[in-house]
Amino acid sequence: MILGSHVGMSGKEMMLGSVKEALSYQADTFMLYTGAPQNTRRKEISELRIEDGLSLMKDRGIKDFVVHAPYIINLANTVNPDTYQLAVEFLRKELERTEAMGSHTLVLHPGSHVGEGADIGIASIVKGLNEVLTKDTPVNIALETMAGKGSEVGRSFEELSRIFEGVNYSDKLRICLDTCHLNDAGYKVKDDFDALMDEFHRFFPTETIACIHLNDSLNPLGAAKDRHANIGFGTIGFDALCKIAHREEFSDIPMILETPYCQIAGSEERLAPYALEIAMLRKGVFDPHIFD
Ligand code: FE
Ligand code: FE
Ligand code: ZN
Repeated sequence: MILGSHVGMSGKEMMLGSVKEALSYQADTFMLYTGAPQNTRRKEISELRIEDGLSLMKDRGIKDFVVHAPYIINLANTVNPDTYQLAVEFLRKELERTEAMGSHTLVLHPGSHVGEGADIGIASIVKGLNEVLTKDTPVNIALETMAGKGSEVGRSFEELSRIFEGVNYSDKLRICLDTCHLNDAGYKVKDDFDALMDEFHRFFPTETIACIHLNDSLNPLGAAKDRHANIGFGTIGFDALCKIAHREEFSDIPMILETPYCQIAGSEERLAPYALEIAMLRKGVFDPHIFD
């Protein structure tokens, strides 16, 4: 099992700080955003402390990590040409940063069709990916399974496979399975994960999965919402998520927790839950008082 969480990247230490944060959770891997996920302001590659980060990773045996593109990139927007153009340009730069940092995987939300319908959204995503990917692109883009909130594209394996079909260099495409999003999109993560994987394999082999986002969900099956819960504290529950974490088929795939920070009783402070959640998943025993 390769287990970690998303971590920050900011301040003077940048990527060095990201690796230190991952180590503080006893993680085997991690995921980072190259800047704030809500905007496209980014530091120069030379300011990211990449050498220091990679050397600490090597010392401490962290072999791999993934990068997540910001949510505001929307290749599916056919209503505002500026949004689409910004997405294409930013995605190119994000691929450069991902390569420079030594990661092979950039996770991307496919996009939102903003009312024009999934067919038009998918065509626009295909067009954008074809503008960005070349036969020499050294990084894979992992399309994330989405909850179907608003007009999100990629709420089903079928929609994602249609994107793969249209992309010329689809050998550069991968999938990121997000358990909260799958639940919210109506896939039975809790009650029949084997059937979910059978459905997945109608479209993709296991090797297509570049990473897994392991999250519980605040909402019931099919809610189309996308609100993450701490492991064991949502509608999916600990047993189902722990089984997924220990699934043989996923043993070489990085699993990333994106669960919410916890409020400390009687204080304004919020703490990262990841060290506790990682330990609990490795051990395989749920502790309902873990955050007390
Ligand atoms: Fe995501
Ligand atoms: Fe996710
Ligand atoms: Zn989410």
